[in-house]
Amino acid sequence: MKVKGLFIIALFIWSCSNKPNKPDVKMDWAIALHGGAGNILPEDYTKEQQEAYIHHLNYALEIGKKILSEGGTSLDAVEQVIRYMEDCPLFNAGKGAVFTHDGKNELDAAIMDGNGLRVGAVAGVRDIKNPISAARLVMDKSEHVFMIGKGASLFAKSQGAEIVDSSYFFTEKSWKSLQRALEKENQKDKKMGTVGCVALDKLGNLAAGTSTGGMTNKKYGRVGDVPIIGAGTYANNNTCAVSATGHGEFFIRYTVSHDISALMEYKGLSLEAAANLVVNIKLEKAGGKGGIIAVDKYGNLTLTMNTTGMFRAFANSNGDQMVSIFR
Ligand code: ASP
Repeated sequence: MKVKGLFIIALFIWSCSNKPNKPDVKMDWAIALHGGAGNILPEDYTKEQQEAYIHHLNYALEIGKKILSEGGTSLDAVEQVIRYMEDCPLFNAGKGAVFTHDGKNELDAAIMDGNGLRVGAVAGVRDIKNPISAARLVMDKSEHVFMIGKGASLFAKSQGAEIVDSSYFFTEKSWKSLQRALEKENQKDKKMGTVGCVALDKLGNLAAGTSTGGMTNKKYGRVGDVPIIGAGTYANNNTCAVSATGHGEFFIRYTVSHDISALMEYKGLSLEAAANLVVNIKLEKAGGKGGIIAVDKYGNLTLTMNTTGMFRAFANSNGDQMVSIFR
């Protein structure tokens, strides 16, 4: 009798920890976005700086909410939210991209459609104003999934993407950040500002996108996790959509975003449990700092980090909403 009781308790605990956190009512739509994770502490930002970040995160969120609530696609929401963040110099993507060791900007971006596992990615581009839209063009208009450098720019231009002079990407903030990094060659710049967005639309389609200037002081030709599908970006209608930010080399080695999806698909873990296992246990143990935002096919959201902060926001069709910076 006693053994039977213990067995039932164990079974209950097991089923709770493995049950996908399916809400009673499936969300019509849900969205989350990030503007980078890192050693982000309140004392490093003035009140005005914090307000500026909150303002732009809110604005980006409203763009995505409007598209999704009016029945638009998750892909459009992801692309438009990221375009806004790329144009905002506060973030390390598009306009605000960081500098390489030799003072250039090399941008990476990827977008993935969870419906059919369609993908587009670009890496090392130097003159595309909105790399996320170039990634979308690779997905929609080419027979490829990943293009780099000059070839990616020429293709994007031929498809109508806006090309800018590379001086467009100069910002005082990113330049100073490179000078600080050069002074202390071995010390990584502690703030990261990659942008990303994940969304579920009313048709039940998931999408993920991420865009970045990479890491300050990176070597010429270095590519991070962002455009590597399954590392920094992944979406699959059967499981979830994930966008990551952090020390890219670790996210590549641990195939972070696909690992979260695989734990859900093959092990039946909930989104929350899978994200926690990968970010707070596996990555943390390896010394890989960063965070992820993710949404599953029911509209459950998770914003998980092993850093002191992540610029982030989410909203869903239930009226839940949050914008936040610190842990
Ligand atoms: N993950 C990006 C990279 O390694 C950087 C970041 O997220 O801040 O390129």
